[in-house]
Amino acid sequence: MRKRSKRKGFTLIELTVVIGIIILLTGIGLLSYKALLDKTRKIACDTNLRAINLALNMYLNDYGRFPSTGSDLVRALSEYNISPSQFHCVEDPVKNHNTYLSFYLQRSTRPDNLAFVLGCPYHSRGEKSLALLYGDEPKELENLKVTLNGSPTKFGQSMSLRRGDEIDYQLKDGNTFATVNVTQNIDDAAIIAAFSLPSGKPYGILKINDEGAVDVQVRTGSRFEVATPSTIAGVQGTRFTVTVSIEDDDYVTTIDVTEGTVVATTFPETIKALKDSTEIRKIKFPIEAGHTGTVRRRIPYYVPHRIKIVPRYIRLKVGQTVKFEVIGYDKDGQSRKMGMDDDDNKKGHHEDNEVEGEVEWTLFPYLWPSGRLDDDGNYTAIRRGVDKIRAKVGPRKAYAYIFVR
Ligand SMILES: [Zn+2]
Repeated sequence: MRKRSKRKGFTLIELTVVIGIIILLTGIGLLSYKALLDKTRKIACDTNLRAINLALNMYLNDYGRFPSTGSDLVRALSEYNISPSQFHCVEDPVKNHNTYLSFYLQRSTRPDNLAFVLGCPYHSRGEKSLALLYGDEPKELENLKVTLNGSPTKFGQSMSLRRGDEIDYQLKDGNTFATVNVTQNIDDAAIIAAFSLPSGKPYGILKINDEGAVDVQVRTGSRFEVATPSTIAGVQGTRFTVTVSIEDDDYVTTIDVTEGTVVATTFPETIKALKDSTEIRKIKFPIEAGHTGTVRRRIPYYVPHRIKIVPRYIRLKVGQTVKFEVIGYDKDGQSRKMGMDDDDNKKGHHEDNEVEGEVEWTLFPYLWPSGRLDDDGNYTAIRRGVDKIRAKVGPRKAYAYIFVR
């Protein structure tokens, strides 16, 4: 009898243990739920980067260059079935914001392998950065520490730098692999990368979006780039100064090399590179120690006129004629027909849309010409086959394909 009454209910110790276990299990559940959520969000971001990567490669194949920096990227890739929502990372609290744009670096036609192309500002803040390097899939790379005047600083934030500021890019052991000294105020700059490449080589990038100047020192064996509105100055162990200024409607980047070699990259659509006062037209040019290189680029505000032939793909029957027109974007982002509408446009100097030069049409037959193309963009199919039409306005090109049945 006594025994049975003893077993009534729980003792305090039993109760404490049970409650403790429940709390523990709930805790584990919450933890793993959060971990799962984080993982899912990272996968979603990775999926976006993969889709953009694919579209960027298709764009490169079609146009022979990468899309320009800025909102043009979203528009440029829209024809490869990339929607604006794919430019948004779920971690980004700003609704419909194009998260990745600030972490996009326009490369030259064929960049070096493992050149940084795109990354996510929100997935670069922890131990690892999610980044897309040219010639690779999106990858998680181990972050390295960056300090601004001795205090740790965040990646991707737009910041203004003052003369005298010092940015240190540090290795795991705390040693510095790159030091940036600000010599002229910069209103808009961002640290967009500081990580270890799969080979273990450190890689740092500073993006300068406005006028200003920096003095850079990089330790041998490290990769470092200063991206400006007109160029990307890349080095592997050297000392150099980068100055960005605005002259007329151009962003002018001047690179003075003290030690080693700096390779400056320019962009095919607005190339204008000067080296020691001699104008050259190369995509990449090395600047040796003791020399100065200057790269100019029209201010992007006026740059993103992209021409697009409408329609892009078309099927015709022998004997049919179709008229092609070039659609471009003006500085307000408005779509406009270019080149053949009125005489003003044909001459190429239309104040509103800033298009230089008249439309040039070229036919690239795949096997033999399956059609005839006149100067006004009228294409007449004459036999079965596939043709490619190229239209050029100023330095920009666009292509259309015609299949004749
Ligand atoms: Zn992300």
